[in-house]
Parts: sequence; C-alpha cells; structure tokens
Amino acid sequence: MVQGIANWNTEQTEEWLQGYVDDWVAFFRKHTNEGKVASYIPELKKANPDQLGISIVGTNGMKIQSGDTSIPFTIQSISKVFSFIVACMERGVSYMLDRVDVEPTGEAFNSIMHLEMRQVKKPFNPLVNAGAITVSSILEGNTSDEKLEPIFELLEKLLHYRPAIDVDVYESERDSSMRNRAIGYYLLETGFLESDLNSTLETYFKQCSIELTIEDIARIGTTLANDGRDIETDEEIIPRPIARIAKALMLTCGMYDASGKFATYVGIPAKSGVSGGIMAVVPPRVRSEDMPFIEGCGIGVFGPALDKQGNSIAGIRLLKHIARQWDLSIF
Ligand code: GLN
Repeated sequence: MVQGIANWNTEQTEEWLQGYVDDWVAFFRKHTNEGKVASYIPELKKANPDQLGISIVGTNGMKIQSGDTSIPFTIQSISKVFSFIVACMERGVSYMLDRVDVEPTGEAFNSIMHLEMRQVKKPFNPLVNAGAITVSSILEGNTSDEKLEPIFELLEKLLHYRPAIDVDVYESERDSSMRNRAIGYYLLETGFLESDLNSTLETYFKQCSIELTIEDIARIGTTLANDGRDIETDEEIIPRPIARIAKALMLTCGMYDASGKFATYVGIPAKSGVSGGIMAVVPPRVRSEDMPFIEGCGIGVFGPALDKQGNSIAGIRLLKHIARQWDLSIF
C-alpha cells in the first residue's frame, strides 16, 4: 500500500506515483491476451489487442498517464453518458426519467429481452442500447447533425477543443448493426421513439463514433467528479443534479451485466465501451489525508481486448488494482 505522505500534490509525489502506475500498466498488460477485440463492428476488428493505457487527472490538476496514452479511439457506449446528460439539460430530468428508467438490466448491453416483457413501460436505463437509442430519439433536432450539435458543444466545453467523428467506424456500424436496427424497430413499434427511426439511429451510430483519447476521458471524468464544474475555471458545465444522476447510473448500470461486480470489487462509477475504453469517476473521499487523489479524479482507460461482457479485460484489472492500492472506492 502506498502511503505515508500528507501532501500528494507535489512534483516529487507525482513522480513517485508515476513510477507505481508505470509498473502496474506493465504488469496488467499481459492480461490483454485473455480477451478479444470487438468484431461485430468490422472496423473495430483493426484494433491492436495488446494495447493498454491509463490517464488519471485529479480535481487538484495532478495528471498521471502511462502505457498507450496517445491513441484516439471511438468512445462507443461511453457516449451514452453524454447523450443522456445533454437530453436532461434540454428536456429536464423528470421528462427524461418518465421515458427511460434507471434500473440495471443484468443483461447484455444489446439485449432486447426486457422490452418484450409486458410490465415494462420504458427502457430499463439510458446506458444500454435500448435506452440510449430512446435518448437519441428524444434529443432536440430533426436531423442527426442537429441532434448531435449540443453533444459536441458540451464536449467542447469540457475539453476546450471540438472532437470529431471517425467516419470509417460510423459507416462500419451503420452498415453492419442489424441488432441495433432491430432494437430501433422494436422501440418504434412500442411507441418509445420521439423522432423518426433513421435520424435516431444515425445519431446513435455517430455519437458512438466520436473519437477521444484517454486524457480526454479522464478530463471529463474529473469534471463529473467535481459535480459538473470545470476544475480550472470553476464554471458549471453540467448542472449538479444531472452530474449526480449520471454518476449513479454509471455505478449501477455502466459496466453492463458486470456492473454489480465492478461496484463490489472496484467501487467507483464507470462507463465502458466496446472499443475498449472506460471512463471512471472518483468523487472526493472522506479519508485520512495520506491517500492520493483524495479530492477526486477522473480516469480514462483504453485496452481493446474485451472480456465476455464487452468490457476491457486488462483495463478492469488495472482499475481494480489501483482502486485497492489508493483506496478509491466510494464505499
Ligand atoms: N456502438 C456500439 C453498439 O451499439 C456500442 C456498444 C458498446 O460500446 N457496448 O453496439
């Protein structure tokens, strides 16, 4: 256990923590060969399964990065957090919660099963495909570009630059995703969609294809850890009640049917995507001062080799280890 220093926010301790994280990334990288890259979106098959990288940005500004840190990747399901936040900002929280529930499914991210169960009046949560596609339909605007513009504006505020879509990944998913089209038709038939199916699915595929780096993901995580306020300017970018719901959803539903295990063994709100990214949010903890990042941090992880649930296999192990070493659990 790393401990014994009261003030972690110095260059020396930053260097010291960097040494630990470098060792941990090197150690957990070998677990990448136990997973497989996503193949159901053909373009994602091109990813290198050996890669693993992590970026940690504290709300105090301290930054530690290690491994494969400079590879941009499509955020896939991590985008579901952003589209839900934007929809809540546009329509209001109660409007959204009337239309999408906040319950974990215990099923795969692209499961259609619950929609068929009679007593279900709305999709289970906005972080699985059925809920996220419903959210895309609720976003204001008639075309996918109109619907996506506020998501890009939010990301630009969070990151201080405007990210772009990886067109090859977008087209690859658009042309191959029969499953999401099936979910879309089902939602249309059951009256859950608030826009036409085409612009809804186009919005969904495009948001999943937004390209970011792990540092970007960590920065956004930090703002969420900081209750939606920019750590440099203190501007409120995401209203606090919405940031809070987003974190609750990440904790309960963010890792699909591994969410319970992740909450139990790691204990921090997180959202994964099938390209191998994970955004984790560590709120400030009330603990003894001798733990790093006690004022909270955001963590971005990238490791394209996935486990059976579609989460980065080495990324989860690395996060679990760091959470233990630095006592990051919210519990
Ligand atoms: N675009 C992907 C899909 O809809 C996102 C899923 C994921 O990241 N788990 O299948």
